[in-house]
Amino acid sequence: MTFWERLYLPEILKGIAITNYHMVRNLALHTAHLFGLAKDKRATTTTQYPEERKHYPDNYRGSHRLTLREDNSVRCTSCFLCATACPAQCIYIEAGESPDPNVEKYPVRYEIDTLRCIYCGLCVEACPCDAIRMDTYVHPRIWGFDRKDFVETKELLMHRSRVLAEKGREGNMDEMQAWYKEQDAAVYNPMRPELKTYTERERPSHLLKEPELTELPAIDRRAVSGK
Ligand code: SF4
Ligand code: SF4
Repeated sequence: MTFWERLYLPEILKGIAITNYHMVRNLALHTAHLFGLAKDKRATTTTQYPEERKHYPDNYRGSHRLTLREDNSVRCTSCFLCATACPAQCIYIEAGESPDPNVEKYPVRYEIDTLRCIYCGLCVEACPCDAIRMDTYVHPRIWGFDRKDFVETKELLMHRSRVLAEKGREGNMDEMQAWYKEQDAAVYNPMRPELKTYTERERPSHLLKEPELTELPAIDRRAVSGK
């Protein structure tokens, strides 16, 4: 530390000067923006989510998706390795006999309880056939009114793969934000009193056919591993 730094006072004054500079500058720019001036200059450096959003890096691990075969069927073979590896025990699978003679099983039901999930990625690592990924560039759901809103069904997890293929890496995030706005409008819109209660709100079309959800049973890991 130099002599002036050890005195503290000059550094404190420097800090106050920087803070005041930004406050006055932002105030002036916000005022100018109100009158349509200096629109090309940003008043703040904060990302104005949800109107603006940061782009996630390529290695970002966000929400899950179930990958698809060429015929659009689910790639998962219901081997339960992801559910066994999951430390939060939040993956629920019901296996059924696959209609494809080359595949033994497929998931009749595949659900992830994202309220329990810790987004560790162990399910992705455990999967032997690349059937589950976390490359949707969608951050975990932060908005919902009951537990069902946070349980991601097989249909939703497959839908994310279709959106990613059709609309690219921003597709799922665009859709999620549109859904948030739709829900927000439906719940709080005084012009639609029939939707005033949270539980009576509309669900997005791709989730309309989801099966009735029940409490996810805890997985007995000793039974799964045969110990
Ligand atoms: S990310 Fe981790 S906690 Fe979440 S479902 Fe996968 S293994 Fe379980
Ligand atoms: S997602 Fe992968 S690990 Fe999990 S049950 Fe399906 S095939 Fe097995």
